[in-house]
Amino acid sequence: MVGRRIRGGIMKYQEALNSIAKYCGVNNGSMLEDDLKTLQKLVDKETPKKVKVWSFVNARGKHIDVYYCGSCDQYIDRIKYENHCFNCGQALDWSDK
Ligand SMILES: [Zn+2]
Repeated sequence: MVGRRIRGGIMKYQEALNSIAKYCGVNNGSMLEDDLKTLQKLVDKETPKKVKVWSFVNARGKHIDVYYCGSCDQYIDRIKYENHCFNCGQALDWSDK
């Protein structure tokens, strides 16, 4: 539920960005286009991306899951359930973990 709410909030920013792009006319090589790209990166960072998981069995036969940022492959500490990658700032999606 919380994840859905976050995603809904982020959609507002994406829609706002789309509206600006539409009414200001992008793809005309203006400086505004660069600004929009910058803002798009911000929206992308805040849009939760699925964490990557690497599963293996250790020497004692224990099943281990190790998690990585879906954007920059930084190791993520599962215990803390971090919402953002501390390396690149990417919002993380733990929904099916
Ligand atoms: Zn990252």
